[in-house]
Amino acid sequence: MICDHCGGPSTPCGLSLTRSLQWMSIVPAKDLPGYNWPSELVECVNIVRDSAEEIGRYCSHPCWSAAEPDWIAALGLTRPYPPAGLAVPCSRCGTLVDRLRVHVAYNLSDECYVEESDGSLSVKPNDEDTLAVLCNRCESPGVEVETQEQTSRPETAPA
Ligand SMILES: [Zn+2]
Ligand SMILES: [Zn+2]
Repeated sequence: MICDHCGGPSTPCGLSLTRSLQWMSIVPAKDLPGYNWPSELVECVNIVRDSAEEIGRYCSHPCWSAAEPDWIAALGLTRPYPPAGLAVPCSRCGTLVDRLRVHVAYNLSDECYVEESDGSLSVKPNDEDTLAVLCNRCESPGVEVETQEQTSRPETAPA
């Protein structure tokens, strides 16, 4: 986990930029482990299995901030950091993206690698931000995605 900006030594915590295919769904909170308001509906981000690909890693927020303009330029983003919601403007062309359907998204995750008791490494996210959501014309998911092939996580962690 070498920093892409400063080349600094690997650290257990840092920021990871990933590209993935995802869609949102609305599920009853009772279907989510650890959720305290069972009668509520929760917006979930679903990631198409094996679609997440790390394209950048940074040791710190200053290193990410230094690299950020280059990514925004490279990805052609005119509206980075879309608002929350099920329909948001494409971060490149402004067309409304229906997030209930599979689309390409770029996410920035502030995370730490933690060693488990069995010696394996797992990732613990501290914070997550959506850098870009793209419409299918700007960046096609490429494949007809089987929606059964999925992993889900709540959009907002239980308080
Ligand atoms: Zn760095
Ligand atoms: Zn677009």
